[in-house]
Amino acid sequence: VMHDRDAEYIESIDSITQEVVGDAPVMGSEEVRKVVEEARKEQASWSTRTLTERGVQLLAVRRSLVAYGDQLAATLSSETGKSLNDAWIEIAAACVMITYAAKAAPRILRTRTVRSWPVVAKRAILRYEPYGVVGAIIPWNFPVVISMQVIPFALAAGNTVVLKPSELVPLTGQLLGQIVADSGMDLVKVVTGDGSTGEALVRSGVDKLAFTGSGATAKRILKAAADTLTPVVMELGGKDPMIVCSDANVNDAARTASASAFVNAGQACMATERVFALDSVYDAFVQALLEEVRRLRLGSDPSAHVGSLARPDQMPVIERRLATAVSAGAKVAIGGRRRPDIGPWFFEPTVLLDVTPDMEIMNEESFAPVLSVMRVPDLATAIDLANRTEYGLNASVFTADRRRGREVAERIVAGGVNVNDALFGSAVPSLPFGGTGQSGYGRLQGPEGLREFSRSKAIVESRFPGLPSLAGFVLAGRKPSAKWIGRIVRAAYGR
Ligand code: NAD
Repeated sequence: VMHDRDAEYIESIDSITQEVVGDAPVMGSEEVRKVVEEARKEQASWSTRTLTERGVQLLAVRRSLVAYGDQLAATLSSETGKSLNDAWIEIAAACVMITYAAKAAPRILRTRTVRSWPVVAKRAILRYEPYGVVGAIIPWNFPVVISMQVIPFALAAGNTVVLKPSELVPLTGQLLGQIVADSGMDLVKVVTGDGSTGEALVRSGVDKLAFTGSGATAKRILKAAADTLTPVVMELGGKDPMIVCSDANVNDAARTASASAFVNAGQACMATERVFALDSVYDAFVQALLEEVRRLRLGSDPSAHVGSLARPDQMPVIERRLATAVSAGAKVAIGGRRRPDIGPWFFEPTVLLDVTPDMEIMNEESFAPVLSVMRVPDLATAIDLANRTEYGLNASVFTADRRRGREVAERIVAGGVNVNDALFGSAVPSLPFGGTGQSGYGRLQGPEGLREFSRSKAIVESRFPGLPSLAGFVLAGRKPSAKWIGRIVRAAYGR
């Protein structure tokens, strides 16, 4: 955060060149409140649109996103250090999310009549209504796709959105607002700034909050949200396990482990951080993994496999955890060092062997290119150790047996499991995405993600006009005797 004569602003820094490429204001409580009020005005008319009309508008947002594709990819790449290819993958995933929300909302959120038993004289109607203004607080690692796990779902449900992008990606956030506005409706407003702006948004009177980020920030947000009882959906960190069964395709497992551990230089909530390989395949798996990692090239050019960290803070943390693990008997099989010769924030893809479950590196989220591998005697132990974590975002299991894959998937405690793969569960927009424990609660994507931004309302009508009310008839008159009610309850539910 920089201080000017009378204003604070954040600088957007190119992760590779370290050049300042732009800036954005640090917005305070007053400004944030004003923006939320503007969003509220838009919401009043937006919510009167039918679900189908909202879908049509969302497809216009998608067209606008694609039209801005090159500019958005360039901005995203500059602010996060990821390659243009990776930036376009985010844009593609964002298009998938918008398409699903636009097409599924009319079916999922339509008003419907449900069974009214036992009050059969009544017609029971279930209706989904928007909350109003949704606040979205977003991290820096996948800012486009994470914003789009919220925006189209919240809009489809009839809300408008105030987006608070991470202080590392203010220009990407502003551009997302412009992209939506260019679709013809100003449905997403952007507030830029740091944590103080985020907190101002929590306290601004938004009707629902979607937070994606770290557990430490999540707890601060909940304290602020407690004052207004603002409901929050939380997408937090992970310590994702992979189990390699004795019948696994070891080469495929090794390739996948390397890909999912070092994607975005390990700065992914769903990065694989712990591998539990069964004794019989351990040696072959480790050999294949090390071959895979040896091939990875660090660099900032598009053909490099692993890029720079987006910020330096995590480097000393990881170095300390590695050193502690090594002094307790772990072995760095490959990597483990900074690479200032390539760039100031580069860290080698690292594989750690001979770890034990109690080591810090096996329990705290790394958010860096570090993968720990452990030998386990049997599948039961593997599942047990995989579940021995406070987190529960995603997991992988490799096995040739479909039944075994399903069984392990059912026994893993996590929001999602990939059988013979990693990361790609979240790419299915019709499935919910979220975590257990310290990975958060509530769900984005899928029908759950549409309902997450809707309040359900129960309406009860009389089927036969002219009939007196049941409350008046049953409760205000002479009540049936305890004996009679007892008889009915026993007959209906006693057997
Ligand atoms: P962070 O928690 O530091 O910041 C996230 C956002 O919260 C930023 O916009 C920040 O400005 C804002 N913020 C900070 N303090 C705040 C406060 N007191 N009140 C309100 N807002 C505040 O996280 P980060 O470093 O940007 O992202 C990395 C973390 O995000 C990792 O833990 C990662 O696992 C997690 N993550 C989770 C998912 C998921 O979907 N589960 C996805 C990506 C990242």
